Amino acid sequence: MSERSNPRYVGFAIETTCPRCTRLVPLAPMQASARCGACDHELELSDKLWIGLLRVAEDLDERLASRSPAIEGDRSLGGLRVHYAIWRQPPRCERCEIELDHAAVIEGAPHGSICSGCGEPAIDFPVPDSIASVITTAKQVFVCDPQRFAANPSRRTWTLRLRGRTPAQRRRALEQARTRSPPSG
Ligand SMILES: [Zn+2]
Ligand SMILES: [Zn+2]
Repeated sequence: MSERSNPRYVGFAIETTCPRCTRLVPLAPMQASARCGACDHELELSDKLWIGLLRVAEDLDERLASRSPAIEGDRSLGGLRVHYAIWRQPPRCERCEIELDHAAVIEGAPHGSICSGCGEPAIDFPVPDSIASVITTAKQVFVCDPQRFAANPSRRTWTLRLRGRTPAQRRRALEQARTRSPPSG
């Protein structure tokens, strides 16, 4: 059996400010656009934004802990000023907070499910290739009822499954291997 590293999960809440009316706009995961709930302005979300955000998650990977307090910050990503909160959590129902069933998830394919606690529809789907080819640890996204995501800004969290070593962890492993076995001859 080939070795497969254990997945780990990161929770996200991401928002930006509408350039037209300055209201906060929550960003649903890996989307190409977001619509301001107040003025209907459509914001374009580039792959650069998502790649930059996942880099932040990779950099924070070992420091992530519970949701309160989450690690928060602001970055300019893909031409937008983005506020992020990132924490460690398995995929959860956003409505009732019960852990979503993620044992049977097939990475790389979209999959719908229903929260066993409250019946809320949830989906998981693969990180798009254009993003996953750059951030190779990013695998699968979990989110509750994505249609209602934009309509209700209080519901704006989602979860990412990561697998494998981040660039920093790979670098460290290489350095450790080098100091452990100095070249002979
Ligand atoms: Zn607006
Ligand atoms: Zn639920």
